[in-house]
Amino acid sequence: MPNVKIVNLIKRFVSARGEDLLALDRLNLDIPDRKYSTLLGPSGCGKTTLLRIIAGLLEPTSGQILFDNMDVSGKMTQERDIGFVFQNFSIFPHMDVWHNAAYGPVVRGWSQAEIAKTVERNLKLVGLEKRDKALPHELSGGMNQRLGLARALAGHSSLLLLDEPLSALDAKIGAFLRYELKKIAKTNHLTAIHVTHNQEEAMTISDNIILMRKGEIVQTGTPEALYDQPNSMFAANFIGKCNFFKARKKSSHSVEIDGKMLQLPNEVSQDKIVIGIRPEKIHLDPHPDQIRFSGRIELINFLGHLYEYRINVESDIVSAYKRIKGKNLKQKYHEGDVIEFSFSGEDVFVFPEPEDFKKELSLG
Ligand code: ADP
Ligand code: MG
Repeated sequence: MPNVKIVNLIKRFVSARGEDLLALDRLNLDIPDRKYSTLLGPSGCGKTTLLRIIAGLLEPTSGQILFDNMDVSGKMTQERDIGFVFQNFSIFPHMDVWHNAAYGPVVRGWSQAEIAKTVERNLKLVGLEKRDKALPHELSGGMNQRLGLARALAGHSSLLLLDEPLSALDAKIGAFLRYELKKIAKTNHLTAIHVTHNQEEAMTISDNIILMRKGEIVQTGTPEALYDQPNSMFAANFIGKCNFFKARKKSSHSVEIDGKMLQLPNEVSQDKIVIGIRPEKIHLDPHPDQIRFSGRIELINFLGHLYEYRINVESDIVSAYKRIKGKNLKQKYHEGDVIEFSFSGEDVFVFPEPEDFKKELSLG
């Protein structure tokens, strides 16, 4: 417990220059109980603002927050029973690691034995069990963030809110903590709402992704749904990689790209469209019955399990992946080679052509 519902939520700020800023633009959202949800989106899109409003640390301009269908808008943070991990870890500087981690349980009046057990467990979980007597200023930034996490877990709240909890950490530790966080949330039946700008982190950790942009919700769903059925060029571009081609409708089920025809499984509704294709759906050994292009390989990136080929097609860069099979890394293609590639209409996304291509993909 609980399920968190957001109804018609608006948040306006007045900027330092006195300008009106719409940080959250009438959001409606259902965050499922006991699931791991992430608020994902570029910096400045309103993630922290939304999380702080859910926590009761910030008042909305209008709209409602419901926990299990109960309006909590009038409730103080302390009354909302939340564990919170802040972006800029807010631990007590004068308390050592152990006492910081024990803060929640102590305030809640738990027994000494319960407190000791919880603190020991949580410090171990975040890898700080040997630093229990250290003061926060003696720890690295990453360690402080881990301490913030241990403290948030100690309260045993059923709702855990995390604002970029892994961003300050070393990549390896951060990736490891992703699994730990999800495991902790699952075993304790928590509802987690985790803010991140990192799409890979969101893909790994989430049951449910809420993709945001400029104070609005773009799309919500499982990582698979967002990856396989993005509802916009922005979603296709932000979650994973995607190549885009401008296309024109030729008949009900066919479009033209640079004078070449592409057959599509579904009826095309607009005249001007954009075709999206994932790099792994591009075939470097072109299929005869697919739409074919040629270009020059500008760059080859070795990614361990695959190669990324960056192919210059009339000054547009197309990214294509080729899986590496077996142990033989000998390359068939080289930088500078002119090659052909193809893809199928079955594998593409179809979007209406935006007025401004660049703006549609921009993160701001
Ligand atoms: P995110 O967490 O997604 O990076 P934020 O929620 O922090 O984004 O900010 C959303 C927008 O609201 C940004 O344009 C930011 O500058 C603005 N903003 C956030 N807090 C304040 C504030 N206290 N006063 C004025 N503007 C703010
Ligand atoms: Mg933020």
